[in-house]
Amino acid sequence: MFLSIIVPCYKEADNIELLYNTITNTLKNEPFTYEIIFINDGSPDNTLEKIKTLSHQNDVKFISFSRNFGKEAAMLAGLKSAHGEVAVIMDADLQHPPHYIPTLIKYYHQGYDQVVLKRNRNGEHLFRKLPTQLYYKLINNSVDINLTDGEGDFRLISRKVINAILSLNEYNRFSKGIFEWVGFNKITIPFENVERAHGKSSFNLFKLIDYAVDGILSFNDKPLRLCFYFGGVTLFISLLYIMITFIQILRHGIDTPGYFTLISSILFLGGVQLFSLGIIGEYIGKIYYETKQRPHFIIEETNIVKNNQQSGNDDEH
Ligand code: UDP
Ligand code: MG
Repeated sequence: MFLSIIVPCYKEADNIELLYNTITNTLKNEPFTYEIIFINDGSPDNTLEKIKTLSHQNDVKFISFSRNFGKEAAMLAGLKSAHGEVAVIMDADLQHPPHYIPTLIKYYHQGYDQVVLKRNRNGEHLFRKLPTQLYYKLINNSVDINLTDGEGDFRLISRKVINAILSLNEYNRFSKGIFEWVGFNKITIPFENVERAHGKSSFNLFKLIDYAVDGILSFNDKPLRLCFYFGGVTLFISLLYIMITFIQILRHGIDTPGYFTLISSILFLGGVQLFSLGIIGEYIGKIYYETKQRPHFIIEETNIVKNNQQSGNDDEH
């Protein structure tokens, strides 16, 4: 059996060697062979140099992007280049401990196509923990697929799943959703949350909010439907209000003090309209990016020999 380990790296210079040593130590007595594919996602530090010093080992491959394209693009590039019968995707910061790999393989041999590690949120800031929990409640009520808190990108996927994922060529990639959407036989095993080895997380609050919005918008058009219903209800209430006021005018004549109702209805309707426009705008933005058909990433340098490797838009599958 041949395993591909895919590691997206952004500003991970201090972690690369540590991760590499941990992986090789863990896997040295295992009965399978493997390759490690590091994807340098346009890091400004010397992540690439660190990867290159390892790449004379023939189990180390690398792909280096021309700029930062994001973790989703990095994972996609890794999956496209993976030769393995199975792939394991893991972070470079050792938050995804390599000693789980043999366990993942064990489950694969039991017939699972996706073996997912689900982390708990011990030791995480309350201000990240609470909104996340709330978010998953919200998203699972609105999206057709079921997303679970703590299930991230740390997982083993079989060749069947890799090919299924590669067949989705959408530009806006929300991999958490994509993994769920493709389906296949899946098992989830828990693991303890660990702190990152060196450096700090690239995902700040705004990036996380972006990610959360993407999660909702990438998988259905229910928010548009919501606008429709909300608009309908507001229209109905407004009509009712107009009728009542009109009847009152007929019965008692016009009485001037109406400032509060006037201002509140203008503000309320304005708010509803802007919000709905915003949602529609988000979808149009997504359509805009999809229609451009741009590649997901541009490769500047790689040691993987393969034809047609220049971009994420290759039609090799
Ligand atoms: N990462 C990446 N491109 C980016 C941001 C992050 O490839 O633009 C990688 C990063 O090097 C790490 C993984 O994605 O291997 C997770 O990132 P991070 O640890 O910053 O996120 P967190 O663990 O806090 O969710
Ligand atoms: Mg991390």
